[in-house]
Amino acid sequence: MSDFAFRFDNSYARELAGCYVPWRADRVPAPRLVAFNAALAAELGLPAGLDSPAGAALLCGMDPPVGAQPLAQAYAGHQFGAFSPQLGDGRALLLGEIVDPRGRRFDLHLKGSGPTPFSRGGDGKAVLGPVLREYLVAEAMHALGIPTTRALAALTTGEAVRREGLKPGAVLARVAASHLRVGTLQFFAARDEHGRLRRVADYAIARHDPDLVDRDDCYLAFLARVIDRQVALVAQWMAVGFVHGVMNTDNMTLSGETIDYGPCAFMDHYAPATVFSSIDRHGRYAYGNQPAILQWNLARLAEALLPLIDPDNPDCALALAVAEIEAVPERYRAAWLVRMRAKLGLASAEAGDGALVDGLLAALEGQGVDFTLFFRHLARAAEGDELPLLALFDNARDITAWLLRWRERLLRDPQEPAARVAAMNRVNPLYIPRNHLVEVVLQAAEAEGDLGPFRRLLDVLADPYTERPGLDDYARPAPDDFGPYVTFCGT
Ligand code: AMP
Ligand code: MG
Repeated sequence: MSDFAFRFDNSYARELAGCYVPWRADRVPAPRLVAFNAALAAELGLPAGLDSPAGAALLCGMDPPVGAQPLAQAYAGHQFGAFSPQLGDGRALLLGEIVDPRGRRFDLHLKGSGPTPFSRGGDGKAVLGPVLREYLVAEAMHALGIPTTRALAALTTGEAVRREGLKPGAVLARVAASHLRVGTLQFFAARDEHGRLRRVADYAIARHDPDLVDRDDCYLAFLARVIDRQVALVAQWMAVGFVHGVMNTDNMTLSGETIDYGPCAFMDHYAPATVFSSIDRHGRYAYGNQPAILQWNLARLAEALLPLIDPDNPDCALALAVAEIEAVPERYRAAWLVRMRAKLGLASAEAGDGALVDGLLAALEGQGVDFTLFFRHLARAAEGDELPLLALFDNARDITAWLLRWRERLLRDPQEPAARVAAMNRVNPLYIPRNHLVEVVLQAAEAEGDLGPFRRLLDVLADPYTERPGLDDYARPAPDDFGPYVTFCGT
């Protein structure tokens, strides 16, 4: 047992017996911290000194603090549309819950900590490249203001792990509002274990929506809350060109945080059909399909909650749930439009704004225009300099016509021009985890053990909106010879 004065709470273990397996992390030969998020540790009020060999032994799970009750959570999920009744933490553990100085509860969770009863033949391990990728992208998302699990630490274990060849074994210690997923409820709904289903739903409501606890319609209201959070989340993803890549229902949280950065990547040029994941052969999780999948996944959540919504009247429960799910596209469009208006520098709302944004996307399509740079250059166009923006286009005819519509709309928007430009640059990032940059830093770390490039990129991405001197290379699109980008599931 570790000597650190970690005051874990274990509400999941205490309240949800039967919904997990108590488990221990593997002992590993040489745990070593390769990244430690000191700012996050301080924010969470964690004990000092974790950035040390003893801290590494704790953070890889092999030397848990006194009072920890590590466990592997059970969950199910639809993977690429097909239901898997038992997934669960196959290479992860909930180490414990931290209550921060502001009273907020977070899971401290390990990925790559060894096999569990949910491993289904997998080795339970993770390797350094994907662990650093999750660290980097999660922290980038946080800096972008997008709800996400956070990265607390990345460690190498001293083991060699077989993937395509041998790779350095690694563990990610991550922090989340919870790891409750759509698939957590599906696990119990699919088994008709309604008692446990209710206990998990009650736990989720108490943890994420405590104001609903005493309501008679709490399960329906909870469904509406998760819909709100997920709709807002996916709207934010779309606004920055984020492609999650594996939006299975086990990778969709009830808290509304982005989770499980496996084959994710940021779109470079605007194309709705953008897919990066090697296993997504039919484009189910393509950039432009994410809002439709959002609704599909939320329908699976609604199905799982049906037995609780109105146990005595299944028809009534179904009608209520269907009404919620049918409203998702409209709610999504509204949330997305809020983001897109801000990206265009609009502080006011007009009925024609949706058509204005649709017109923009039509003008971007097929032009090979870098999605991120377009909006930064649009802010310069707002200042009067259209040239950098026009230079992004092979054929500027459509965008020139669109810019006239946009300028006409700006005339009816109350913001002062200088305030508008500043506001645009606060929502349109300049530095994102571009695929070619991520590849270079992961390669340096995995093949050469050089973490310097990773740390520099992490540092740049910590402030994505402020242009800084000397960082031009981080803002540029991939070189032409980079080629199509393919990502692999985070194993
Ligand atoms: P993911 O695609 O990472 O969301 O994982 C889907 C399921 O596969 C989860 O139940 C994981 O715990 C499990 N899994 C993924 N990789 C491994 C592995 N290397 N060993 C055991 N289980 C794994
Ligand atoms: Mg997952």
